[in-house]
Amino acid sequence: MTSQVLINEKGFQRILQGHPWIFRSDITDAPHNTTPGEIVFLHIKNGKFLGQAFFNPLSQISLRLLTRNVEPITTDFWRKRLQQAIQRRHHLGFGKYQARRLVFGEADFLPGFVVDQYRDVIVFQTLCAGIERVKEQLLALLKEELKPVAIVERNDVSVRELEGLVKQKGVIFGSIPNDLEVQEGVHWFDVDPLEGQKTGLFLDQSENHQVAGRYAHGRVLDGFAYQGGFSLAVAPTSESVLAVDSSASALEIFKKNVLRNEIKNIQIQEANVFDFLREAYDRGEKFNTVILDPPPFMKSKKNIRAGLAGYKEINLRAMKILEKEGILITSSCSQNFTPDLFQSVLEESARDAKRHIHILEIRGPSADHPILMGFPESHYLQCWILRVI
Ligand code: SAH
Repeated sequence: MTSQVLINEKGFQRILQGHPWIFRSDITDAPHNTTPGEIVFLHIKNGKFLGQAFFNPLSQISLRLLTRNVEPITTDFWRKRLQQAIQRRHHLGFGKYQARRLVFGEADFLPGFVVDQYRDVIVFQTLCAGIERVKEQLLALLKEELKPVAIVERNDVSVRELEGLVKQKGVIFGSIPNDLEVQEGVHWFDVDPLEGQKTGLFLDQSENHQVAGRYAHGRVLDGFAYQGGFSLAVAPTSESVLAVDSSASALEIFKKNVLRNEIKNIQIQEANVFDFLREAYDRGEKFNTVILDPPPFMKSKKNIRAGLAGYKEINLRAMKILEKEGILITSSCSQNFTPDLFQSVLEESARDAKRHIHILEIRGPSADHPILMGFPESHYLQCWILRVI
């Protein structure tokens, strides 16, 4: 028999607003004999049925909503959810050589399940105990739907530990073709789904790479460049691009990408962007365009202060080294760094740098990372495009 979990009014309101999570503190009664990730029925005090959810008492995020209906959660249920996720991206098109996010966890109503596709290679993450339990079913369905040549597991992420899951990664089906490369815009990018950061590429920025090409000009600094997503996209419209990143392995692939695409005006430098910006300012070096795409500085609410200081420092320094009428393309992928906070950091930076700012665009992630209204966690990526006057 399916176990039942009782939640309080606060949790109930959260569900009504479209948020799929219930925190441990909003549970008023739960059985003690469930196994992590089991599917339970959700109720409120008056006995009203709210839906079915994954239940993991080990995790602060104890419940993850699966459906508001009484329906059997069978292979057909998962098949439909996967097919819907694929269907939602149909209008975006998918060329033979492309990459895309195919399943974006809760935003696609598959809690904790992330699937990226690089041509016919599938890379997945199962980030909560519930989805881990149905992993084999989901992978069988992915094979059925997509006929991949390889399936790669990238569960080497620490959020798994909050769920009582171990970190693991590997090729679990087929084999990754040698020299796997994908096309983004007009350029080719080498992909290492096993060793690259995230699942290989930062697919959430792919549309922003292309948009950046419309604004970037003159001498460009690409800070936190990784394998060159922004650099390659802006190189054709710019005089020169200086790309800076601290990861030697990312820069190795970046160099391959530069050669592969026969680009002549990109220079690559291994350095800490914080140091680079300070030294560039001290030298009096100037740029017409600065791109900043740092790793998350504010991973949890605990490091809001340190995060704010980090964002302030790089944005202020970027404004100081920009020529008049320069372009600043500045991103954050910290879900706790809300658009309001980002705006206040940019305002403070502009004040300290004594510059005026035009906000040209405030962008989110690529359309294959849909933002679920009522679930701010899915709105983690911001990309602000500014003119610094
Ligand atoms: N702009 C890239 C993605 C950047 S991800 C794209 O669109 O594809 C963040 C990058 O910052 C990673 O490549 C990481 O190696 C790098 N990084 C993290 N901390 C850094 C630091 N202090 N200085 C330089 N690079 C850093």
